[in-house]
Amino acid sequence: MKNIFGLTLEELQESLKPFGVPSYRARQVAEWMYQKGARSFDDMTNLPKNLRATLPETLAIGRPREKDRLDSADGRTTKFLLEFDDGTAVETVLMRQPYGNSICVSTQAGCNMGCAFCASTLHGMARNLSAGEIFSQAIIIEEMLHREGQGKVDTVVIMGSGEPLMNYDNVLAFIRLLHAPYALGMGYRNITLSTSGIVPNMYRLAEEGLPISLSVSLHAPNDALRSRLMPINRKYPLADVVKAARHYAETTKRRVTYEYILIDQLNDGEEQAQELVSLLRGQLASVNLIPINPVVERHLLRPSAARIKWFEQYLLDHHIQVTVRREMGTDIQAACGQLRNKHLKD
Ligand code: SF4
Repeated sequence: MKNIFGLTLEELQESLKPFGVPSYRARQVAEWMYQKGARSFDDMTNLPKNLRATLPETLAIGRPREKDRLDSADGRTTKFLLEFDDGTAVETVLMRQPYGNSICVSTQAGCNMGCAFCASTLHGMARNLSAGEIFSQAIIIEEMLHREGQGKVDTVVIMGSGEPLMNYDNVLAFIRLLHAPYALGMGYRNITLSTSGIVPNMYRLAEEGLPISLSVSLHAPNDALRSRLMPINRKYPLADVVKAARHYAETTKRRVTYEYILIDQLNDGEEQAQELVSLLRGQLASVNLIPINPVVERHLLRPSAARIKWFEQYLLDHHIQVTVRREMGTDIQAACGQLRNKHLKD
């Protein structure tokens, strides 16, 4: 059986050609799958009856099933654990923001980047997700929002489990699918990709001609500390990551966001604030401060509210654009990897 969910229109046309299906019918199939929630060929009522009978003999519409769902007490965050046919499970989070519905998708099952503060990496990486598997996370939430009369998916952040630039081709195919008019028709500017700093693929992404936003996980302003928190820094050191991010901003004219998880007594001091200012001065960039979502297994603590405020003010005083991420969904373990880990343990 070949799974056609997640194929582009061109790929669908190729897959349906052996059945004598004209191109316009491939578009109908795409719209049924991606816009009208069809689960089977039988749902596609404008396809001829004989096609509805023969296509399922060799083609399948494979979608994940909802294995778990948690809603935060304030109703703003919903976390899904989705399971694919081979038993692989991934997390997807919906955040109902004041500016619209934002979802955070996973690109790998688990992750092998080994970041010290992250629950997704505790069990390593199981496998890459296909473009269709990443896209299915967006479709399932889009359909849920529609069913519940809550609008649609407005923005997508590729910031869940996994390093997207280590699954480059599938992630790029997913982004193009999000944008396709026969799928979600989402503007590229509503899509943000977050990387831990895979330098060669940051340069590659800059050349794709896609005006998506880039977010770079920095988390430390010097190599010694960053290598402790993010082992990938030993391969791609800080200066190279910042240079690649600067190149991305200059090529795409898109502001780069640097993510900086604030950890008590580790990277929240005056020395680190000074280093951060020197590193980023003069760039088309902003810093997103993220007070750490404690991961029980790692014993990393959140700074006090006063410390967070001080760090933010220090950057502002030195003309670095800065935001502090609002807490969402800590009561439902919204930090990436935590729900999946719970199921791996059960
Ligand atoms: S923070 Fe991202 S890159 Fe690092 S281990 Fe977690 S999922 Fe992987």
